Amino acid sequence: MFDPKALWSITYGLYVVTARSGDKLNGQIANTVFQATAEPARVAVSINRNNLTHEYIEKSRAFAVSCLDETTPMEFIGLFGFKSGREVDKLGQAKHREGATGSPVVTENALSVIEARVADKLDVGTHTIFVGEVVAAEVLRPGKPMTYAYYQEVKRGRAPRAAPTYHAPEGGAGEAAKPAPPSAPDEAAKPAAPVPGPTMKKYVCDVCGYVYDPAAGDPDGKVPPGTPFENLPTDWKCPVCGASKDEFSPQD
Ligand code: FE
Repeated sequence: MFDPKALWSITYGLYVVTARSGDKLNGQIANTVFQATAEPARVAVSINRNNLTHEYIEKSRAFAVSCLDETTPMEFIGLFGFKSGREVDKLGQAKHREGATGSPVVTENALSVIEARVADKLDVGTHTIFVGEVVAAEVLRPGKPMTYAYYQEVKRGRAPRAAPTYHAPEGGAGEAAKPAPPSAPDEAAKPAAPVPGPTMKKYVCDVCGYVYDPAAGDPDGKVPPGTPFENLPTDWKCPVCGASKDEFSPQD
């Protein structure tokens, strides 16, 4: 038998993995980081071949890992986990410094940082596992490291499709098991018109787990507090991952 759920018992952390290519910097969220050996200290990361960070690690033969604090906000995880460095200057929006290898080292929301030079790599199909020899490591502050379970259960975060541990939501793409919002069929036809009986229900992004709270609105998207989800414009996007409005489900 093959029950993919057996693999869900494997536990992970949550990290930002960064690299440089010339004067360009990039980074991404990774949950697959582990210490491979103690003597010498080596760490391994599994990175999707299509990601920009993969290209930068290949070119510079170095990378840095920032171990995230449990208090890391979703917006920060969204920046590194759900946006591409081909479209967004991620490091321009996060505190970092240049490390010993030249890799950018993200210090914001990080408990500790590790820098490594690539010692070996393994092609595993969609991903490459880079094994790096640790050349610098520093504890920045005390705190609890974010585990992948905490990210999923407490922060209600999801894995992006490029993650090595991604699995489609139950019921197929888009969580078909969940009932559609009652107003859903009308939304496309009547974009800006107020839907009859809008509620103050919270809605959850199926992609990243961001929760839209009508009481708070979306200040960054210029949506005032007190705006029901149903009344958001149809071109409104998730402020964390950029998913469209129809990728949200009512919160249980
Ligand atoms: Fe989202």
